[in-house]
Amino acid sequence: MKPKRLESELQDVGTFSHPKQNLEQYATTPALATKVLHLAAVEFGDIEDKSVIDLGVGTGVLAIGAKLMGAGHVLGLDVDVDALSECKENLEMYEPELEVELVLMDVIELIRRYDDYDEEESDESDDDDDDNNNGDGKRKDYVWPKADTVVTNPPFGTRRKGADVAFLAAAMKMADTAVYSFHKTSTREYIQKVATKKLGAKSAKVVAEMKYGLKNQYGHHRKDEVEVFVDVWRIEPTCKMKRDGNNDEDEIFEQNLRDLAANIEELQLSARERKDKHRSSKNSNNTSNTSNRR
Ligand code: SAH
Repeated sequence: MKPKRLESELQDVGTFSHPKQNLEQYATTPALATKVLHLAAVEFGDIEDKSVIDLGVGTGVLAIGAKLMGAGHVLGLDVDVDALSECKENLEMYEPELEVELVLMDVIELIRRYDDYDEEESDESDDDDDDNNNGDGKRKDYVWPKADTVVTNPPFGTRRKGADVAFLAAAMKMADTAVYSFHKTSTREYIQKVATKKLGAKSAKVVAEMKYGLKNQYGHHRKDEVEVFVDVWRIEPTCKMKRDGNNDEDEIFEQNLRDLAANIEELQLSARERKDKHRSSKNSNNTSNTSNRR
């Protein structure tokens, strides 16, 4: 698909209707998504017929773009059930509906629990209560979701320090071939060092530079729009985690997905139930307040 066509196909993808500041929810614009996906697909052959994970899928523009560019299986992960539900609506807008598997997952929590890389600032004692760890509280047997390519527009770590690197670490666990990750240009040297030295990347290169106009959707920015310079990295992880497609890991992986509440419909339902309960308890409180006043 030509870039112009892709961009116009992405034009109607809805963005966060109530963006959550603590999760740094900023949707990638159709223009930027097109630029990155086209590069990944055409220059590097990382999209067509490849399995793709969109880490922090949000409302789905990158996952949708990947699918439209001919990706095979696409998996979108996010910690926010509302974002996943909006993403689902976006997928349904296409005719035929686009197939992207959506899974609720706290990527940062997972990397904190199951990875063996040291968090620089970790001062928390891990209260993991299972036995399957190396004495440092971190399990070594976790099987990460895997795909050929991982794309991620991660939180930049402005709200939650280290979120950008936690995402990168998780992305590198999940990718067999390449990670495309967005990072502030001001952190370029740091990211280079982290990717290659700490996370053991085979290569890490900035493949595109972009200017982000972040709209003041939260009100904590003084200006209406702040410009942020962002690098798009292409990172080749080390190959040691590559799965051969026919071993026990597949089963554990499937089990892990199931354990992580893979059924988005159920989650939406329970979120709705919670809201309804909340509403009805509020109403009954109101009624009792009223009767008190009387
Ligand atoms: N990929 C989308 C959204 C990017 S914003 C796009 O490009 O438009 C970053 C996303 O990361 C948000 O959807 C946010 O909910 C998600 N996120 C933040 N913290 C997370 C965590 N701990 N685990 C999983 N997703 C997280």
